[in-house]
Amino acid sequence: MSISKAIEKVEARYAHQPEFIQAVKEVAITIKPLYDAHPEYDKLKVFERLVEPDRVFGFRVNWEDDNGEVQINRGWRVQFSNALGPYKGGLRFHPTVNQSVLKFLGFEQIFKNALTGLPIGGGKGGSDFDPKGKTDSEIRRFCYAFMRELHHYVNKDMDVPAGDIGVGGREVSYMFAMYKNLTRESTGVITGKGVGFGGSLMRTEATGYGAVYFLQNMLAAQNESIEGKKVLVSGAGNVSLHAAEKATLIGAIVLTVSDSKGTIYDAKGLNQEKIDWLKVQKDQHKPLADYVEVFGGEWMADQKPWSIKADIAIPSATQNEINEEDAKLLVDNGVKYIVEGANMPLTAEAIDYIRLHRVHYAPGKAANAGGVAVSALEMSQNSVRQYQTFEQVDERLQGIMKDIHDSSAQASEMYGQTDQGYIDYMSGANMVGFKRVADALVAFGILN
Ligand code: NDP
Repeated sequence: MSISKAIEKVEARYAHQPEFIQAVKEVAITIKPLYDAHPEYDKLKVFERLVEPDRVFGFRVNWEDDNGEVQINRGWRVQFSNALGPYKGGLRFHPTVNQSVLKFLGFEQIFKNALTGLPIGGGKGGSDFDPKGKTDSEIRRFCYAFMRELHHYVNKDMDVPAGDIGVGGREVSYMFAMYKNLTRESTGVITGKGVGFGGSLMRTEATGYGAVYFLQNMLAAQNESIEGKKVLVSGAGNVSLHAAEKATLIGAIVLTVSDSKGTIYDAKGLNQEKIDWLKVQKDQHKPLADYVEVFGGEWMADQKPWSIKADIAIPSATQNEINEEDAKLLVDNGVKYIVEGANMPLTAEAIDYIRLHRVHYAPGKAANAGGVAVSALEMSQNSVRQYQTFEQVDERLQGIMKDIHDSSAQASEMYGQTDQGYIDYMSGANMVGFKRVADALVAFGILN
């Protein structure tokens, strides 16, 4: 069958792209029941087609640092699939960015975007530029230089990027300004814009809040509630702090946040004052460890949060941040729910381990789809040149997260993956997302 052939080909052709291979295999192992029920997918080699991006652009980004020295970075845009709508997916600025990372993210994005039920295809982009330690003027010059190249490949109806790690509101504004300058168009070519010049209310909160809405649906499916549950959050960025905020607002006790230097453990739990302080601290690129001096708690230098007893984990920092050892710690410490705020934060071995131990597990493509869903709402607000209120967007987001939860749970049940109340969200989400894209590809014949 063509799924195994597709994997063999990907492994041979892209042996140097381990993250991409990991992402392809994760989808492949779970969609078999669906694939077997639809011989037309195999006949038209749908999976084999989907593992090869429509196209990948790579470019050089020259920029000048504050000392007047010329710096050179690499930039990429992966246009993976536009079967369901314009390519859509964030831009990541981080030294670990390479084609493998962007292809894994772009591949995941196809199915995540399909899961939202909104008309958006999948893409991803970014640069190996390291924003850490750069001044505001260096960030601005880099963003301008990056968009000077990227603008050749994006357009409001064709490919609409957004933020991701290292790309927040400031970077989006600089890139949007350069796009407008070069094209003299004022369109929604990038999402995550400032509210007031085309941005949607709630976009900043959407991914973290959405992950917690997904979690609430998972808990409800097990007749449980979030009230009083102890939660471990990793990361201290956009997704993490908003996941921590929403979880706290609805009664959970968030014990940790972290960054690449270590973990804050606050046994009393976060509150709004602490979260607001953390937001400012991260915005100003100041050390997370200062928290302990202000609010108490413990700074666990160079450690991840997974050694602490809790009910729920929301890994929201980066890919492969939970390996098999971490997964064992989580299970031993009583964690019953893992909701991926980040993209692919669990290694394949960690996923196998927690599923074996019946930890309820929401994969990123389902649980963190709230961000891209609100980005798609931003695109439609830009098209009709109107704004929606925070409450309107929040209501849509809650509805979308419930739909993603319910459709994934139904697919898990329909294809025999639910076992005595244990819902296989990973299989369910992959099958729902894959089916929507695959059906479109079948309808198109062999184009796309
Ligand atoms: P941010 O850049 O805002 O925050 C990332 C956080 O993770 C920072 O606290 C950073 O710490 C930490 N981190 C990054 N790399 C590592 C590492 N190797 N080890 C430990 N900590 C690390 O990014 P976002 O919150 O936007 O994104 C986080 C994840 O969520 C990513 O996987 C992203 O793809 C995914 N995602 C984001 C969406 C969004 O809307 N923003 C949408 C969907 C998914 P430090 O500052 O020390 O580097």
